Amino acid sequence: MAFDFDLFVIGAGSGGVRAARFAAGFGARVAVAESRYLGGTCVNVGCVPKKLLVYGAHYSEDFEQARGFGWNAGEPSFDWPTLIANKNREIERLNGIYRNLLVNSGVTLLEGHARILDPHKVEVNGKAYSAANILVATGGWPQVPDIPGKEHAITSNEAFFLKQLPRRVLVVGGGYIAVEFASIFNGMGAQTTQVYRGPLFLRGFDQGVREHLRDELTKKGIDLRFNSEVTRIDKQADGTLAATLKDGAVIQADCVFYATGRRPMLDNLGLENTAVKLGKDGFIEVDDEYRTAEPSILAIGDVIGRVPLTPVALAEGMAVARRLFRPEEYRKVDYQLIPTAVFSLPNIGTVGMTTEEARAAGHEVKLYESRFRPMKLTLTESQERTLMKLIVDAKTDRVLGVHMVGPDAGEIVQGIAIALKAGATKQVFDETIGIHPTAAEEFVTLR
Ligand code: FAD
Ligand code: NDP
Repeated sequence: MAFDFDLFVIGAGSGGVRAARFAAGFGARVAVAESRYLGGTCVNVGCVPKKLLVYGAHYSEDFEQARGFGWNAGEPSFDWPTLIANKNREIERLNGIYRNLLVNSGVTLLEGHARILDPHKVEVNGKAYSAANILVATGGWPQVPDIPGKEHAITSNEAFFLKQLPRRVLVVGGGYIAVEFASIFNGMGAQTTQVYRGPLFLRGFDQGVREHLRDELTKKGIDLRFNSEVTRIDKQADGTLAATLKDGAVIQADCVFYATGRRPMLDNLGLENTAVKLGKDGFIEVDDEYRTAEPSILAIGDVIGRVPLTPVALAEGMAVARRLFRPEEYRKVDYQLIPTAVFSLPNIGTVGMTTEEARAAGHEVKLYESRFRPMKLTLTESQERTLMKLIVDAKTDRVLGVHMVGPDAGEIVQGIAIALKAGATKQVFDETIGIHPTAAEEFVTLR
């Protein structure tokens, strides 16, 4: 049977663009449909604008610390609309780059909502296209619990386009996005409160890391409220939002920001016209080669709910393109030792097992830990401290996990992740000569 395309990709986000470009590069006839923005969540309302705001937020500390080095630049002031306008310009530039990447690699770009009509047919803007394979890469969407007044809350989607910096912000949630945005708002000068339902935020991260970040964020002035939940939000006559907590306390804020997880984006996708099955929490169920229960339909990225990170979606997109169109180069995605960073201020960088995971897996664990004041801060009044931690298997000497809280933790841990992938032992770390003076050298001098 002759199809219009060999591969029809739904969603031009991290995973979809990667799969489409490479499949086209391997000679396949490829279409990609995008309903909202080229580059998807990461480029438009995720990693990229978030990191730009984190950089922006850090300047408040930089100005403060510069005084210790003799600089006096007067009283700094911050203009949110300037930052947002500049950020928007940069994102538009990136949208253009994504368009060129797709078009120049020979992909047919269809701008509009895609709906699956049958296992080999997709409709976009009223026109049906047939395809041998359909790849669902539609990503996720913020999810806000159903409480009275939830319509007054915003999510990360809206935060990137706020007209003004709110004076008082209440952040709800204890995952990546909540912690990062609490740092962003606080760094910009907003009075920031963070409410999390559990005893300590960042569930799943190393306990020592979570405690260290809690202490650092508290020092920076974020009002952290754990074991707490918002039960309702009321808008007062002057526009102030009053969030009532389960213990009866009321927090007054100009903005209530929810980051309580993301659901798969399946709206009006037409999955009911296929045999595709959904698993836990409604994410698309796939096998280890991203095949759904419908043989011609594949799915990757956030919509499968495995590891919702951009580099993982990229790897999955690449794997699909290779398996279908360049099988001799196909390799399965390796989900072991995925490094990750939380761009809070200070950052967390982490790869491998937490102390708790290593113990639960039966390892006899040796811990190496260092807490210190970074050299750059010694001439300043900042009391920020860095944490570096190695988790080592006492029997084999293999390094099981590396964790850091401190400036540039993501940059540092990315390099160390390669050592862990290569199976480095503590002895290899010990035999590595440090780069002096850096914070990173601490990882090779821990005794
Ligand atoms: P997406 O990038 O979400 O792309 C899906 C695309 O599909 C979207 O463009 C959407 O418009 C389109 N679409 C959906 N339905 C349809 C349809 N029916 N028809 C046509 N098009 C459709 N990850 C990191 O690794 N590092 C970070 O620092 C980081 N920061 C983040 C910060 C925030 C605030 C958020 C929300 C996420 C962040 N992430 C980060 C996660 C990262 O953005 C996602 O893991 C990644 O974007 C997933 O890629 P994807 O291809 O699965 O989906
Ligand atoms: P996460 O899954 O990381 O965190 C969700 C948070 O919301 C958790 O603290 C969770 O609590 C809490 N929560 C969930 N449901 C409720 C509820 N009904 N009421 C109150 N609290 C609730 O999701 P995010 O939205 O922060 O981020 C989504 C994903 O995007 C991340 O997991 C990450 O993979 C990716 N991302 C990556 C970034 C990076 O690489 N730097 C940055 C931002 C996002 P509990 O723990 O108790 O379940």
